[in-house]
Amino acid sequence: MGAYLNHSCDPNCEVDEIKGRVWLFAIRNIAAGEELVWDYNLYDDDDPAPCHCGSSKCRGTMYSREWMAKMRRQAARKKKRKLAGSQIGKNGAGKNGAGKNGAGKNGVVKNEAVKPRRGGM
Ligand SMILES: [Zn+2]
Repeated sequence: MGAYLNHSCDPNCEVDEIKGRVWLFAIRNIAAGEELVWDYNLYDDDDPAPCHCGSSKCRGTMYSREWMAKMRRQAARKKKRKLAGSQIGKNGAGKNGAGKNGAGKNGVVKNEAVKPRRGGM
């Protein structure tokens, strides 16, 4: 089905499957001879599917908004993990940096004791 129609972020058709049949609905008036386009709304994949439909509403991808949001959340989580990893590396490398300048050597104060104890009961 998709092979006959092109993707557009500003589609004039909508595709729906009802009782095992694929239905094509016009979602706005289509001029005679106008190309039928529909929003692929791809999902469940992370291969790049860039869109160049040229519409002013173009998302730049053929994936659905929902899927892109999900991918962004996943990417953010991955980034967080990466950041945590590099932080550990920074601590190791930073020691040399501080030593070179001469400053900071004494500036390192142990803050462990400062935390107030929450004893409560
Ligand atoms: Zn587009």
